[in-house]
Amino acid sequence: MNTNNTLYIVVPCYKEQEVLPETSRRLREKLKALQAQGKISDRSRVMFVNDGSSDDTWPIISRLHEEDPDVFSGVNLSRNRGHQNALLAGLLTAVNYADMIISMDADLQDDVNAVDEMVDRYHEGYEVVYGVRSKRDTDTFFKRFTAEGFYKVMKALGVDIVFNHADYRLMSKRAVEGLAQFSEVNLFLRGIVPQIGYKWTTVTYERAERFAGESKYPLKKMLAFAADGITSFSVKPIRLVFTTGVIVFVVSLFMLLYALISKLMGHTSAGWTSLMGSIWLIGGIQLLGLGVVGEYIGKIYNETKRRPRFIIESVLNKA
Ligand code: UDP
Ligand code: MG
Repeated sequence: MNTNNTLYIVVPCYKEQEVLPETSRRLREKLKALQAQGKISDRSRVMFVNDGSSDDTWPIISRLHEEDPDVFSGVNLSRNRGHQNALLAGLLTAVNYADMIISMDADLQDDVNAVDEMVDRYHEGYEVVYGVRSKRDTDTFFKRFTAEGFYKVMKALGVDIVFNHADYRLMSKRAVEGLAQFSEVNLFLRGIVPQIGYKWTTVTYERAERFAGESKYPLKKMLAFAADGITSFSVKPIRLVFTTGVIVFVVSLFMLLYALISKLMGHTSAGWTSLMGSIWLIGGIQLLGLGVVGEYIGKIYNETKRRPRFIIESVLNKA
């Protein structure tokens, strides 16, 4: 068994005072059980990240740490930065202490029992273990439809993403260090983690209902999240403009022909042919131009993200 076995469970919390007592109780139990089995070290912790909550979330986290510093630790963000940023803050803090990190929602929708299997996979040598929902019975039809549609659109746009995986996953220290090299500001972790590479696998779990409180992801945030995911990973929408430009341009040639023939046959009013021709031609050329400009903007966009060009897994070399 791998002796680098300090586990940190990172839990972003935004206004989660209703669920924290129960979440902390269950995670504490889980940590103790894994320690008793010798699968994780005594230095393992549950790390709550308070994402600028205005309720009692941080006082609760502080109290948990005071009462049981061997189990609970906390990170307090200066203000609300959103789920993905809170998660990253936790991962990058925990990586200083941990050998493996599991990220999990605070609301107990992610089945705590999947932790055992994730840790087992880590000991088998996997560096990234994705938690994948087996079914979505507890979600409303609307949430299920939009969420699954989102994964399909992402795939169609060429984004490497694990189907039905949210942000419940285990990452090794190395994998999180790889993540730290992605310096982009628009964070979409689900898309970035597959880019890191390393040996990965999935474990399935049943998604439960929120234990208490209400979703911190209203439709507006969900749409923004989806748009972020697509525009952070794909320049295909820009290509679409270009393709449309080409099509309109080709159509315009036919329209020109049609307008000329109509004119020659004499059943047009004055000015119609030139108007007809120029509207289509100009429209097509404009779209083409936009597409070309967009292509360069896409390049600039990708450059500014300064993503690492590679991450080396191992080197064989006799010096
Ligand atoms: N969350 C956060 N900051 C936010 C919104 C949400 O840290 O601005 C956390 C929240 O506390 C929870 C997780 O992100 O632990 C997922 O949020 P939620 O359960 O509300 O989303 P849903 O499951 O409804 O998609
Ligand atoms: Mg939830």
